Amino acid sequence: GILDNKVALVTGAGSGIGLAIAQSYAKEGAKVIVSDINEEHGNQAVKKIRAEGGEASFVKADTSNAEQVEALVKSTVEIYGRLDIACNNAGIGGEQELTGNYSLDSWRKVLSVNLDGVFYGCKYELEQMEKNGGGVIVNIASVHGTVAAPLSSAYTSAKHAVVGLSKNIGAEYGQKNIRCNAVGPAYIETPLLESASGDMKDILIAKHPMGRLGKSEEVAELVLFLSSDKSSFMTGGYYLVDGGYTAI
Ligand code: NAD
Repeated sequence: GILDNKVALVTGAGSGIGLAIAQSYAKEGAKVIVSDINEEHGNQAVKKIRAEGGEASFVKADTSNAEQVEALVKSTVEIYGRLDIACNNAGIGGEQELTGNYSLDSWRKVLSVNLDGVFYGCKYELEQMEKNGGGVIVNIASVHGTVAAPLSSAYTSAKHAVVGLSKNIGAEYGQKNIRCNAVGPAYIETPLLESASGDMKDILIAKHPMGRLGKSEEVAELVLFLSSDKSSFMTGGYYLVDGGYTAI
């Protein structure tokens, strides 16, 4: 595969988009560290990948906790010897409320997972990648890294910041053989959206010119490309996979 002999780390890999990314990395030959805060889902993901003929191990980590993320990168190197590819994917939706009514606790919670968690990931991954002599980071932002999500100010703010963080890393590490890009999916059919009612789902679908929601595998295709040498001259970018969401 195109990732033969690579070691990859995916956060939030127990479910949805992260799981699809971990599966596609493993199918392309990478040894994959599946990380998640949910131990049961993480272990199930590893079983799935192994059943598909891939190599994977689970390491539990809460990405909003810097020490746990530092330990996660350390464990990756202990288990597979190095770190070549990291996808910082773990994220939450959070409270839905007008900005003026948004609770301080919800704001903190969303920012701590969706922004602090991505920063912690990048910080310790970069440190390790410098030791390796190179690497690739893909951060999962959202279309709300460039357009509003009414009633989700914390989410929009965190995702815009992830795009900015990814640009900064691209600018700083261009000559260190480390690339970093952000990905902007529109609405993807994952457990994150399962709570949405039928009416809500129809409203969401209508925002996509393609007339449907996306699939996790369709996000994984872009992430795989950005994680491989096929994207060797791409860094500091933000790439949409949005069924036309931001075109209208
Ligand atoms: P999901 O809920 O299906 O999966 C998220 C995974 O992250 C879960 O396994 C969860 O246990 C894990 N997680 C949550 N908090 C964590 C933490 N603090 N530490 C470690 N793991 C944690 O969600 P998904 O739809 O697959 O979303 C994945 C990413 O894609 C998120 O960053 C999300 O914002 C982004 N995204 C999703 C959509 C969508 O429509 N589903 C659209 C754009 C962007």
